[in-house]
Amino acid sequence: MTEQLARLNRLPLRDDLRGLTPYGAPQLDVPILLNVNENTHGLPKSVREAIAISVERAVAGLNRYPDREFTELRDRLAAYLGHGLTSENIWAGNGSNEVLQQILQAFGGPGRTAMSFPPTYSMYPLLASGTGTRYVTGRRSDDFGLTAESAAEQVRAEAPNIVFLCTPNNPTGTALSLDVVEAVYEAGAASEAIVIVDEAYGEFFHAGTPSALELLPGRERLIVSRTMSKAFALAGARIGYMAAAPEVTDALRLVRLPYHLSAITQATANAALEHADALLANVEDIKVQRDRIVSELQDLGLKPAPSDANFVFFGGMEDPRAVWEGLLEAGVLVRDVGIPGHLRVTAGTEPETSAFLARLRELLAAGI
Ligand code: PMP
Repeated sequence: MTEQLARLNRLPLRDDLRGLTPYGAPQLDVPILLNVNENTHGLPKSVREAIAISVERAVAGLNRYPDREFTELRDRLAAYLGHGLTSENIWAGNGSNEVLQQILQAFGGPGRTAMSFPPTYSMYPLLASGTGTRYVTGRRSDDFGLTAESAAEQVRAEAPNIVFLCTPNNPTGTALSLDVVEAVYEAGAASEAIVIVDEAYGEFFHAGTPSALELLPGRERLIVSRTMSKAFALAGARIGYMAAAPEVTDALRLVRLPYHLSAITQATANAALEHADALLANVEDIKVQRDRIVSELQDLGLKPAPSDANFVFFGGMEDPRAVWEGLLEAGVLVRDVGIPGHLRVTAGTEPETSAFLARLRELLAAGI
């Protein structure tokens, strides 16, 4: 046990938090950061200027609490998502992590169960433990796939209160077909399960892949969560949101802290949404880099999973740790997500992606 952990354990910590480690990818100071699925392309100058003007206006009113209902932001998010959604269907938080936490606060908690299908987003178990929700895991096939029949059968057997479905899935990058979502929703009827479809990377779907937003009408237990951290290049601003039936947003009002979205956050998000086209223009290039990574890794004899996200999960290396270290030596940080034999890389700009691929080629040629 580390000294730090020993000190922590001397505190009267909740029993269910003992022994847990906090979420955290290494934050290293290297030139090419391809480890946490950020938008590597940054914000266009025109959008930066628009945000600065909007924030400046908000600063003038900082002596007052912000709009608790973030009405303008909810209107703009509904318009952005389309699918006939209105502001009544929308809720936002400081990152989609906060929205997910609020969903667990409202629908999970002691005596209740949340379920997901690993490997998937590593915050789900931590959000569950933070809210005292029991966490159970379902199984995927050996190639990390999940079929409607298998998912539905497992949900029926566990009868959870909450199910997380992540699509495109982090860390594998693979998309779920909507029949899995529909089947899980039906299978969750007996336990009245809230089904959360986490589409944090939804804007990176290949053209023609449908979003679970399509399934919302008539499904009051279905929630689709999204974020401005990825496609909108605003990870540092902390803005995530969800779309669901209006009564779900009412449930989240019961647990949110008053004025949880600061006036600065609202001003930033509103300006970014006003310039959504300019911001989302980079999404297309990121998809090009992503597809390029998949095909070049295949050419190198590695095994990339098909990706609908802004990152690629790949196996086929003899010694992934040595590859990770070799890339780091060349100033390229990728992610070891703790799945044996695999690494995950975020799609960079064209030069960043080229640097990653060139170094990887060198390492493999050197027999690493
Ligand atoms: N869901 C998934 C699948 C993610 O990968 C992330 C970020 N890594 C999030 C949610 C949370 O993102 P944020 O809080 O920045 O919106």
